[in-house]
Amino acid sequence: MIAKCPLYINGQFMETAEKQNITNPSTGKVIAEVSLASAAELELALSSAREAFDQGPWPQFSLAERKEFIFRIARGISDNAGILAELETQNSGKPIKETTFMDVPSSVKTFEFMADNFMNYLNNEDIDVSSDAKARIIREPMGVVVLIVPWNYPLLIACWKLASALAAGNTVILKPSSLTPLTALELARIIQQAGLPKGAVNIINGSGAKIGETLCADKRVDMISFTGSNEIGKQILQYSSKNVKKVIMELGGKSASLIFNDVDLEVAVNSSLASIFLNQGQMCTAMSRIFVQEGIYDKFLSSFTKKAKLIKLGLADNHETQMGPLISDAQRKKVIAYVEKAKAEGAKVVCGGKIPENAELKNGYFFEPTVLVDVGAHSHIFKEEVFGPVVLLHKFSGSDEAANLANSVDFGLAACIWSKDLFQAQELAGKLNAGTVWINTYGMFYNALPYGGFKQSGFGKELGREGFLEYVRFKNVIIDQSAEGKPLVNYWYGF
Ligand code: NAP
Repeated sequence: MIAKCPLYINGQFMETAEKQNITNPSTGKVIAEVSLASAAELELALSSAREAFDQGPWPQFSLAERKEFIFRIARGISDNAGILAELETQNSGKPIKETTFMDVPSSVKTFEFMADNFMNYLNNEDIDVSSDAKARIIREPMGVVVLIVPWNYPLLIACWKLASALAAGNTVILKPSSLTPLTALELARIIQQAGLPKGAVNIINGSGAKIGETLCADKRVDMISFTGSNEIGKQILQYSSKNVKKVIMELGGKSASLIFNDVDLEVAVNSSLASIFLNQGQMCTAMSRIFVQEGIYDKFLSSFTKKAKLIKLGLADNHETQMGPLISDAQRKKVIAYVEKAKAEGAKVVCGGKIPENAELKNGYFFEPTVLVDVGAHSHIFKEEVFGPVVLLHKFSGSDEAANLANSVDFGLAACIWSKDLFQAQELAGKLNAGTVWINTYGMFYNALPYGGFKQSGFGKELGREGFLEYVRFKNVIIDQSAEGKPLVNYWYGF
């Protein structure tokens, strides 16, 4: 029997008249029927979140009470880890090893981290502004926050946003991608069991194209936290401008890995494979451009290509699978179109570039790990995000050239440097236009570190103190302390 998934609004689960089928990208089979929010449910979510903020009790709870709720959500995710990992794998096609050992435990850790740390981030600050006045900066929640999440890390990115937004005292409306709403809706059960007051968290499902504008432009919303593509990010900026609200944007990338002659070749090759082929390359921080210094280029290319051909494609719920399907047939078509365009622009495919022939995979949206060489710096695939298992390898001679190549695109999300010369690597890191630079590693995310991109990869941060403070507004309270006890402005008029 197919699971039926209701929305979660104002503390209640709600079946709606309009439904949407969710398919498993490994098999193309329908696995769930999810309610879709109509204008009525959207209105209910907006009014519930607003009322829950204005009337409380969520924002009025003491910090210690809020902390306990945040911990309870962490425990709920941990207690349901197996269910969440399976759901995420079935819905997104992410290999079960990845959801079991990365997505779900990282989601727990994010809530735990925020529970442990947010009280320190909220300390009000007394500032000595003058001998006549005393000033205090007060940190308050933003209000109602809309959280919009993409399909590539549906649970983890939802948790990054929820943990900060809730710990700061906001009420939220979470909109997962309509391709991958299942773990967000399961999270609703965990949040209800954790006992959060009604309206503090509302989780809706619906096509962004249909409900996005109403959701983002509404006056009752104070902030939008968006993770997704640049194209949709630009639309959301327009919606948000109607009633002027705070927005943070975590957008796409075209990240570069710079590999120097002196590296341990095997380590660099193995990590570089993961840096592009994990999650089928559907990672905002995917190292989709690998630049290798000329002294080791041939050896690197040969080893990288040989190993890429050995990656085990398979059904995502198989524990042996190293690479699952892409999220949808539409995404696979987009990836194929990019590879074809690259070939037309002179690129050579040295590995993959096609749909696998394995009969077991024929109903899923699989695509082979693909390696391109001879890609010109002006070609589309050099500059644009593919969001699939496609990487280009390119030679460089010196450090300045490497920096120029890495910085030559409109994005600025992340970069990798591989070198034993840590002095040179750190100097180079300073020249890279990227929000995160990994040296001799890839994909290490820490809850204590603010994460976010530069240039067209967006603005604002997730995680860490800075990411948490995105969900906080700062208020100055200034108290006059002049001997006469008069407001300072009176001196000006002399009344
Ligand atoms: P997307 O198409 O931009 O969708 C992202 C979210 O926006 C989805 O929930 C989508 O809902 C919603 N949406 C679509 N149209 C909307 C509208 N008009 N108004 C409001 N919301 C709307 O992105 P995606 O394909 O899911 O995700 C891939 C992109 O995300 C890539 O570009 C990737 O680089 C980026 N990403 C960035 C980061 C980062 O941290 N920088 C992390 C992960 C992913 P529907 O599903 O219903 O359309």
